[in-house]
Amino acid sequence: MSDLKNNEFWLVVGSQFLYGEETLNQVAANAASIAEALDASPSIPGKVIYKITAKTADEITQVIKEANFNDNCAGIITWMHTFSPSKMWINGFALLQKPYLHLHTQFGRNIPDLDINMDFMNLHQSAHGDREHGFIAARMRLPRKIVVGYWQDEPVQKQIGSWMRSAIGYKISKTLKVVRFGDNMREVAVTEGDKVEAQIKLGWQVNTWPVGYLVEEIEKVTDKEADERCAEYEVKYDISTDNIESIRYQAKEEIAMKRILDSEGAGAFSNTFQDLYGMKQLPGLATQRLMEAGYGYGGEGDWKVAAMTHIVKQMTAGLPGGTAFMEDYTYDLEPGKELSLGAHMLEVCPTIAAEKPRIEVHPLGIGDREAPARLVFEGRPGKAIVVSLVDMGGRLRLIVQDIEAVEPGLKMPNLPVARVMWRPEPDLLTGAHCWILAGGAHHTVLSYAATAEMMEDWAEMMGIEFVHITKDTTIERFKQQLFLADLAWKLQ
Ligand code: MN
Repeated sequence: MSDLKNNEFWLVVGSQFLYGEETLNQVAANAASIAEALDASPSIPGKVIYKITAKTADEITQVIKEANFNDNCAGIITWMHTFSPSKMWINGFALLQKPYLHLHTQFGRNIPDLDINMDFMNLHQSAHGDREHGFIAARMRLPRKIVVGYWQDEPVQKQIGSWMRSAIGYKISKTLKVVRFGDNMREVAVTEGDKVEAQIKLGWQVNTWPVGYLVEEIEKVTDKEADERCAEYEVKYDISTDNIESIRYQAKEEIAMKRILDSEGAGAFSNTFQDLYGMKQLPGLATQRLMEAGYGYGGEGDWKVAAMTHIVKQMTAGLPGGTAFMEDYTYDLEPGKELSLGAHMLEVCPTIAAEKPRIEVHPLGIGDREAPARLVFEGRPGKAIVVSLVDMGGRLRLIVQDIEAVEPGLKMPNLPVARVMWRPEPDLLTGAHCWILAGGAHHTVLSYAATAEMMEDWAEMMGIEFVHITKDTTIERFKQQLFLADLAWKLQ
């Protein structure tokens, strides 16, 4: 996983020459101390750098051009300590290619009863300086995050931190390569999509490598390398099988897939059980291990969920919880207590495990190959989200649903896969109804670490539709929202 502190966020403060040198020096000093405090905050994952107090249109345009072309810069944060006439921002903003946050704060928290005079007011005028600034972004229809509140307060810093994670997701998205081992599962619709449109919108480079190429890489892995990998497994997992050969083959698959992904600079991959020509086992443990290391994965050729899994994992680096490729599998429809049991035939990421995963080997009913080794575990209880990206034809829609993972209350001793049980918001019947109305896939990214706000900000940066199923969602309002969104997106 990457170190998020490598991502810089530039604090750009607007002003003008009207105030004189002394005031401008004070503005710069105050801005620098805000940047320093934000940078030191445990809620802030990226690096905050005070960049400039810009007084002219040329200075603004210049700093935005630099931000665009600096690979370390993941976004800009603006704040108007004083008044910055916003026509000065138009030419610069017209060029902006990085995520943008408008921090509406004030340097001093309180109005000092005895000390307030016109000098104090002229320095502390964010209340109207930031309104002038907000207007031009609204007028130019810029995607932006607005955070309002005192800069030392934790909720403010947390919102900035959350947005930074979305911006880091934007940056990762723009350079993401996805390796498809083979094509999609035959006849399946929701895992398909327009890869050209996805690259235009999201930056993803999605390409296919033949399974035979992977088989050659698997055959190149030595027994010694496989044994070393198996020794790692023995430390991290419980070995609940005598079939060590199956585990060794998965070790070879893991090493081979990682080599291909790394040589291509890819962060995510997909495969399908229908296209395993020359492979002895469908990768199970191998895929779970790669997901645990931060690679994204999608089953049945689902490159969209593979990419999303990687992006969400990288965005949430360092946060507790875990993120996994997931699939709604089977329901428990006990009235009033309805639950969804999520799993996949093998490939659930162990970062969401509530217990030490065990390696088991069982035959697989589909795929017509040897019994694959896989990690089996229960997912942990807690609040989470499920995320699905679907191609609506002409636009991409990101669907997020709030869920609460629960203790299953069932042992399910004959179920040979990792699983997690959850209650979708607002309840399974309404939630599933809305999910199906929106066209949400059976495959999702399940994350305890990401929040709906993070995904919404990411969707806005990417310029794609966002819908959110929450505890307050009703079918009637949700239908209306989808109907209006269809009209709005047709106009784009
Ligand atoms: Mn599937």
